[in-house]
Amino acid sequence: MIEKGNLISEGKAKSLYETQNQNELLMVYRDDTSAFDGKKKEALKGKGEINNKFNAHIMQYLDKNGIRTHHIENVTDTESLVHRLDMLPVECVVRNIATGSICRRLGVEQGLKFENPLFEFFLKDDDLGDPLINDNHIIAFNWGTEEEIAIMKEKTLIINKLLCKIFSDVGLILVDYKVEFGRKDGQIILGDEFTPDGCRIWDKETGESLDKDRFRKDLGDVVESYQIVAHKLGISI
Ligand code: 5GP
Repeated sequence: MIEKGNLISEGKAKSLYETQNQNELLMVYRDDTSAFDGKKKEALKGKGEINNKFNAHIMQYLDKNGIRTHHIENVTDTESLVHRLDMLPVECVVRNIATGSICRRLGVEQGLKFENPLFEFFLKDDDLGDPLINDNHIIAFNWGTEEEIAIMKEKTLIINKLLCKIFSDVGLILVDYKVEFGRKDGQIILGDEFTPDGCRIWDKETGESLDKDRFRKDLGDVVESYQIVAHKLGISI
């Protein structure tokens, strides 16, 4: 029986609690949904459960394919047990197709397909609007080492190959996504989550968005779209 201890942190969609084991934490997926650095918020019924199950499916698949993750097991419909990590304060983003912030930032044409996946680092800081940073900033401010930078890039790109395949096999395109890493016992391990809250997924045939862009752009059927993706991937909710 896992005991829910002190609240460690409350993010925009998840809360993290201590457990009776100091090396393991309880991650609670809430229905809360936010966009634009928390400026737009809404609770979407059922999203916490879908994201918890979605994330477990992806993390287990990545673990099986050589990417170590913090995921241990799902404990309830909305809670999972994870290894405690010392998180690096950076977001690793990979883009296969141009949309979102890169189009606004660089005037790139929407829908441009990158010949090679494009990797970007962002600083995890809501007050600053998660600014784009590069390797030199990470070294200069001691957010990570050169070796850690190389490992994060390598792992994020392996994750891209692994995930593009399972999405593509069921008629979906993984357009872009964000992942975060942490340290444990001298290793760099995938932390946080992989859910439709932090990636873009398009239907191959129709080009329809089936991710949090539905919330950002007021397209409706947000949870229903997450459910469609989960169903296609064989995740039972
Ligand atoms: P963009 O830079 O275009 O806003 O986002 C690129 C990708 O990373 C998208 O799939 C987006 O959902 C994800 N992403 C970027 N920043 C965040 C963040 O702070 N939280 C979450 N959940 N996803 C993010």
